[in-house]
Amino acid sequence: MNEKNITITMDGTCGSGKSTIAKRLAERLGVIFLDTGAMYRAITWKALRSPIELDDTDGLIRLARETEIRLNKGDEGTRVFVDGQEVTRVIRTPEITNAVKFLADIPAVREVLVEQQREIAAARSVVAEGRDTGTVVFPDADYKFYVDASIEVRTERRFKEFIDKGMETTREEVRADLEKRDHADKTRPVGALRLAEGGIVIDTGETDDVEVNLKNILGHIK
Ligand code: C5P
Repeated sequence: MNEKNITITMDGTCGSGKSTIAKRLAERLGVIFLDTGAMYRAITWKALRSPIELDDTDGLIRLARETEIRLNKGDEGTRVFVDGQEVTRVIRTPEITNAVKFLADIPAVREVLVEQQREIAAARSVVAEGRDTGTVVFPDADYKFYVDASIEVRTERRFKEFIDKGMETTREEVRADLEKRDHADKTRPVGALRLAEGGIVIDTGETDDVEVNLKNILGHIK
């Protein structure tokens, strides 16, 4: 007997802890972790290395259609490939983070990636993480979570993370950057970040203990 595939979505704000929770949840349930942000980063990486300008919408759409993105499960999380070349680490630089908006704001680019995300989930159970996974990509998902915390809490977390990594920054800079990214995510013409219909809000403001937040989420899953 075939067991039904299960789709769980996890959208939310930057610094809310959603990636860590989504990854852990997928591991716990033994299902695929579908990192949709990695796909937007991958396509941005390719665009930055191509002669196409970031304001050339048609060029970027063509590039998205011609690109093969693959997500493979590795020992230390998802490995990301663009046209066969591994880009797992290089897509995490601030250069990419700052440029993603140019591609993520184009509805036709999103269409290409959304279709690929649906294909990945068609034959298997997934925990999909991103901004529009519960609203646009999988509106009929079995469980839809929206992970958030106040801007103060997220600023403090990110600031501590950067300082621990030995980076020089200030709380004001970190907060301004998060606010800029919140704004971009929430005002995008298509695929904007918002609570999905029937979505469950998970506030990670009380604790950044992943296990506690995960337990809360698992409590909603039958
Ligand atoms: O989650 P992550 O920070 O890796 O996402 C990278 C970028 O891709 C973010 O700027 C986000 O706005 C965008 N994104 C998106 N739609 C998704 C996932 C990510 O527009 N489903």
